[in-house]
Amino acid sequence: MRSPLFAVLSGVLASLLFAGTAAAGTSGFPPVLTDNKVYKTGAMELKECEEQPVQRDSLDGAKVYLEFVLDCLNRSWSKQLAKAKIPFVKPKFAIVSKPGQPVGKCGKFPAGAQALYCPPERKMTVLLDPYILSEPTELFLMEVVAHEYGHHIQELTGMLDVVDRVKGKSKKRIYDESRRIELQAECFSASFIGSVWHSLGRRDFDFKYIVKVAQAGFDDGIHGKPANIAYWLQKGFDAESPNACNTFAAPKARVS
Ligand SMILES: [Zn+2]
Repeated sequence: MRSPLFAVLSGVLASLLFAGTAAAGTSGFPPVLTDNKVYKTGAMELKECEEQPVQRDSLDGAKVYLEFVLDCLNRSWSKQLAKAKIPFVKPKFAIVSKPGQPVGKCGKFPAGAQALYCPPERKMTVLLDPYILSEPTELFLMEVVAHEYGHHIQELTGMLDVVDRVKGKSKKRIYDESRRIELQAECFSASFIGSVWHSLGRRDFDFKYIVKVAQAGFDDGIHGKPANIAYWLQKGFDAESPNACNTFAAPKARVS
């Protein structure tokens, strides 16, 4: 895929970046971030996910594809949260065909993003533009949805709330939290993909390619260095479990 992965990762960012106001910063993270029950839920149990074939340049085909992936994600993560007795609700889901289209309480779909998650509405929105529809068979579309779903899990487990609502943080702190949130969403995404991998009938190269594209990206300061994005993708994929995704307890070098 030619697209830089960072474009995929935008979303929750806007609310993170503008949440801080006055007062002093805090140090350390609360238990909801460092010791969340989701890190103890073990291997993701859903092992089967049927990918629908998608024709090139077919908006309807890509929509159907995403709905099937979303169904897999719902089934997989609902089991996972049940293990931790965390109430589960499905995320809402919408498609836009170009940036600038309204996405409810989160304003307008930002230019440069491939998808976003809007916490107040618990809704993910995916951009299906001609560019992404031109290469629909890449694993890219699944990764995009699974990443935004990762933010939904962060919302349901109380993590986004904490990150969002502590006021008075320094810019440095906000960026640090943003990277941990984004890298964790990558790890959650790859955990899911890893867990259903053998049912997808894909070549190993397809996932390696996602990692490679991440490695070839650039550092925007809020999503993590390319090497770290690749690291958390691989870690989640190999573990097939959110247990591997505690970015809030990770050494700084892994979330830089
Ligand atoms: Zn994200």
